[in-house]
Amino acid sequence: MTVAPPAEGALVDRYGRVARDLRVSLTDKCNLRCTYCMPAEGLPWLAGPQLLSDDEIVRLVRVAVERLGVTEVRFTGGEPLIRPGLAGIVTEVATLTPRPRISLTTNGIGLDRLAPTLRAAGLDRVNVSLDTLDRDRFTRLTRRDRLADVLAGLAGAAAAGLTPVKVNSVLMRGVNDDEAPALLRFALDHGYELRFIEQMPLDAQHGWDRATMVTADEILASLAGAFALTPDPAERGAAPAETWLVGGGPARVGVIASVTRPFCGDCDRTRLTADGQVRACLFATEESDLRGALRGGADDAELARRWQVAMRGKRAGHGIDDPTFLQPARPMSAIGG
Ligand code: SAM
Repeated sequence: MTVAPPAEGALVDRYGRVARDLRVSLTDKCNLRCTYCMPAEGLPWLAGPQLLSDDEIVRLVRVAVERLGVTEVRFTGGEPLIRPGLAGIVTEVATLTPRPRISLTTNGIGLDRLAPTLRAAGLDRVNVSLDTLDRDRFTRLTRRDRLADVLAGLAGAAAAGLTPVKVNSVLMRGVNDDEAPALLRFALDHGYELRFIEQMPLDAQHGWDRATMVTADEILASLAGAFALTPDPAERGAAPAETWLVGGGPARVGVIASVTRPFCGDCDRTRLTADGQVRACLFATEESDLRGALRGGADDAELARRWQVAMRGKRAGHGIDDPTFLQPARPMSAIGG
């Protein structure tokens, strides 16, 4: 794949990486309580006035697309489907020029109902998170008995043409680490593309432990017991997932090994939180306040300039393996996963 050279005004950092993939968190709230993400009681949510309005989100995405060379926009959260204005935001973003690719990371609850509307609004595809196919496990893991809703959401997304439908799974030791082959079988049977994500130190409870996390090597060994995997010859580019062909292809499975095989050198992501802070990295400890600038009357050129300054400070790597590593103050749900 040929990647266009950075446009004047691109989001370039000190190491020459160019951010073209924007992750926008639409809310920090969620209707699940996954144990590796949030405590049972939830978190102190952002107050209404702290959140960017729909119009403010669209304006910042427009600045990113039209002035800063962003070509991919992914909405996430929290749970983006619970944001009432989601379809309207997608509609507006789909009118931008050049038209960015638009995707959504969701837990899938309600997607069976919303998928046709979102497709009509301009959403291209979805990633649906699903860590287990066992109802009791799902209920324990997410603290909600909603497996059937997620499965319906996946089917609804595929039926509405939000394809390829990707499934994100996080494996945890002693919880669901025996389920890799079953999850892959399920994905193959339904035509979904499965991606395992290594668990990262981004939980609100700070319970992550490097020594016990399930690694990419373990996941691949578990899959290899049931499937013939061969490295995918397709160029990886800036994709976080390393992929393998299953049974010679064309079906594929991916592993996002952020911890044991970091891919920071090829990172092309920039992040906007639901309260209008730019983050250069999931693990950044600094943020740049675009909401304050926007509400203070900054014009688009000034917003673009601030965004560029924020990205210039992106560190070379997330440093999880560095003894001085500090987990960011905000958990994944508040940053936008
Ligand atoms: N609610 C949406 C969802 O469930 O996909 C979007 C937000 S969620 C934070 C995005 C993704 O981050 C999910 O696939 C979730 O499993 C993953 N995630 C959350 N905490 C994580 C962690 N500590 N390590 C790795 N992945 C995590």
